[in-house]
Amino acid sequence: MRILVVEDDANLNRQLADALKEAGYVVDQAFDGEEGHYLGETEPYDAVILDIGLPVIDGITVVEKWRAEGKGMPVLMLTARDRWSDKVAGIDAGADDYVAKPFHVEEVLARVRALIRRAAGHSSSEIVCGPVRLDTKASKATVDGTPLKLTSHEFRLLSYLMHHMGEVVSRTELVEHMYDQDFDRDSNTIEVFVGRLRKKLGVDLIETVRGLGYRMQAPADAA
Ligand code: CA
Repeated sequence: MRILVVEDDANLNRQLADALKEAGYVVDQAFDGEEGHYLGETEPYDAVILDIGLPVIDGITVVEKWRAEGKGMPVLMLTARDRWSDKVAGIDAGADDYVAKPFHVEEVLARVRALIRRAAGHSSSEIVCGPVRLDTKASKATVDGTPLKLTSHEFRLLSYLMHHMGEVVSRTELVEHMYDQDFDRDSNTIEVFVGRLRKKLGVDLIETVRGLGYRMQAPADAA
C-alpha cells in the first residue's frame, strides 16, 4: 500500500512518513501543494494525507483538482483545530475524512487504515482469505493462527492482494503500490516475491493469471 503525504511542516511530514513506514506502507512525500498535486495526478496512491494550509496551492484546491481530474483515491485532510469551516470546505471539495491539528499519529494511522479498507470494500480491520488472516491494525498476518514472518516487501504484497481479493492484479499495479517513486522498479522482482510469499503461506491461494497478473482468493470462493 502506497501513501502520499503532503505537508509543508518538514518535521510533521517526516513524523507521519516514519510512522507510516513503520506500519508497513510505502510513502512518498511532498512539501507544497503543486508538488503534491502533481504526484497525486501521476502516481497511483492507496491514500493521501493532505494538509489544508500549503504553499503554492492550498489543500482544498489540490483535492478539488484531483476530483475534477477523476482521481478517486481516499484523501485525509489535516485541518486546524478551531477552523470548522475548513473541515466543511475540505469534505465539500472531495476529501473523505479529516484530522484536526494537533493530533496523535495513531489517530492518523487508524483513519488511513479505515479509508484504505473502505475503498477496497472491507468493513473490518481484519481481512480473511481462507486460512490467512491479515490484521491491518497490527500490520501482521497469520496462517491457521500461526504468525507469518514476512519481509516488508512480502507484507506489502500480501496486503495489496488481500485488499483486492478476487481481483486480477497486474505486475505493474503491484510494482506501483509496493515501491515509492524513487525506487528502481523492476516488475520481474514481483515474481520472486510472489514465489516467496506462496512458500511462506504454504497454501495455494495466489493464482497466476497468464498474461494478466495474480489473483488471491479462498478456495471456496474460486469459480
Ligand atoms: Ca501547513
